[in-house]
Amino acid sequence: MVSRRLLLGALGVGLAAPALAWAEGDNPVATPSVLTRKGRRTRRALKTQAVDKAALDKTLAQVKPLEDPNAVEPAEVHPPAVSPDEALGRLKQGNAIFARGNASIALPTTARIAELAAGQRPFAVIVGCSDSRVGPELIFDCNLGELFVVRVAGSTVSQEGLGSIVYAVEHLGAPLVVVLGHTKCGAVGAAVDVVTKHADLHGALLNMVLPILPAVSEAQDKHPADLQDAAIRQNVRDVAARLKVADGTLAERLSEGSLKIVSATYDLTTGLVAFDA
Ligand SMILES: [Zn+2]
Repeated sequence: MVSRRLLLGALGVGLAAPALAWAEGDNPVATPSVLTRKGRRTRRALKTQAVDKAALDKTLAQVKPLEDPNAVEPAEVHPPAVSPDEALGRLKQGNAIFARGNASIALPTTARIAELAAGQRPFAVIVGCSDSRVGPELIFDCNLGELFVVRVAGSTVSQEGLGSIVYAVEHLGAPLVVVLGHTKCGAVGAAVDVVTKHADLHGALLNMVLPILPAVSEAQDKHPADLQDAAIRQNVRDVAARLKVADGTLAERLSEGSLKIVSATYDLTTGLVAFDA
């Protein structure tokens, strides 16, 4: 049997590693499907990565299909441990504590750290901005193991980010996804400058703001007094709306009521999060 670690090593890192590295250290019974379903699915998924093809073929040739009882155990799909509304309530309560300048928890104890090594059951996914002032665990008064966080400047979601969200929902049982923006967001500000001042951003920075541009245009059409603020709030609503139709697993859980996807905005001045739902 080829272990995940060996598989990653044999791939020679390259571009495959970032997409797969999140499997390392996760709940052993919550192995991502890309590495636990039948060999052909693994092969198809990994072929999309730019890796050393000879090394990839050699490694995949050693991967046994799941019909072999000695092969990798099938992934376990967890139902949510709490309801979406309960999870939302915990976030609201935690943020209220934070905004009052308090914290209900200290740093995790060594016992808690050891406990988490056995697995994780985060009660919410936070799709947030990379901004250093908006750390999800702090602003929601949470500890290790409680939030599954996907962060990119501007709170947008790439295909890899979407896969991370689906993993947290399907395999870790997270019942809530919060798309979290914040006031004075620099990434959204850059997108506003592109639209209104034709700011010239180079390659990677332009790629960062491209997914935000539709929200800026939509906010612009509504003639707000503060375009950046309106675009920030429009952007998280748009990202949440796109997530709701981006993946079959998410859509199924939404329809059966075991998942909620909501947008929210953190106020840098007050420390409060305003939820759109
Ligand atoms: Zn930001």
